[in-house]
Amino acid sequence: MVARRSRIPAQAGIQGYDTPTSAPVALDPRLRGDTVGAVVKALTLATAAFALSGCVVAVGNQSPAPVAPATVAGVPAGMQYLYGSGEAVAASRQTYSALVRYVQQYQRDRTTLRRMPLQAVLAPGATLAQPTQLTCTGKAAVVFDVDETVLLNTGYEYSDARGGLSYDASRWERWERSDGRATRAVPGAVEGLAALRAAGVTVVFNSNRNAATASYTEAVLNRAGLGPARHGETLFLKGDAPGGSGKDARRALIAAKYCVVALVGDQLGDFTDLFNAGLKPAERRAAADSPAIAPLWGNGWFLLPNPVYGTALAGDFDDVFPNDLRWSDPGAPKE
Ligand SMILES: [Mg+2]
Repeated sequence: MVARRSRIPAQAGIQGYDTPTSAPVALDPRLRGDTVGAVVKALTLATAAFALSGCVVAVGNQSPAPVAPATVAGVPAGMQYLYGSGEAVAASRQTYSALVRYVQQYQRDRTTLRRMPLQAVLAPGATLAQPTQLTCTGKAAVVFDVDETVLLNTGYEYSDARGGLSYDASRWERWERSDGRATRAVPGAVEGLAALRAAGVTVVFNSNRNAATASYTEAVLNRAGLGPARHGETLFLKGDAPGGSGKDARRALIAAKYCVVALVGDQLGDFTDLFNAGLKPAERRAAADSPAIAPLWGNGWFLLPNPVYGTALAGDFDDVFPNDLRWSDPGAPKE
């Protein structure tokens, strides 16, 4: 397969994104190749408990600041948003609507334009500064992550919230082997996948659920109205290719067989493992918003919201609140 330059012009001056410094180790199969989500989730719960006790914490060189509770009535705010809010429905449907429009336009352009279109999958040797894309050959496909992309794991997260628990591999495996009755399709996913299939596009899933539980994942996807999903054909799982929780090797397998028109996920690792190559939160945010990467959002790369777990939930006060974006209330009581 021939690699061509990205549709997006390469940009100079984006330093530090093109040299992976460490191989990530995954604990949570819902994530894309790092441990941040599980760790942060545990810290979030601990911080919430600390805040509810009425304590304050010192932050960097700032004065001690009160910490707002992360939960209301025991339900973490992220779960309220993703599983309980109309806003999450709107955001998810918005993404699926944009995806279907994009793919339909891509299909029209592919038949009417002379130039060879590009895949949404990056080529070997690509960097975040120069995200070279593979050329398009073969039948069109769209590659979806599973968890919190097409399927909401509401039942598993209920067990987290109810028990005040963080991610647990054994409990997650039991969840993978469950009948899926406590899952729901992400709003817009059933209609979106049906529209893509009606347009002649193959729907492929690339998930970090385990290959050993493939038959259960097939059944859950089919039950939710998202199938057909067939392991090894349209369902690729952790263990199907080298790289552990990294998804690039599985993406390469899929891209060798199909023209991957779009990638859809809820974690940046659903698009390229380069995002999980040891970047600090601020570097990762800058990379996602860089001139080389930013135009891919909504143009081949489509993100679903996930404030419940994952690589987004990282960063201390210095990461999240840069020095030039801090305000101190002049009306606050003097100490
Ligand atoms: Mg996911």
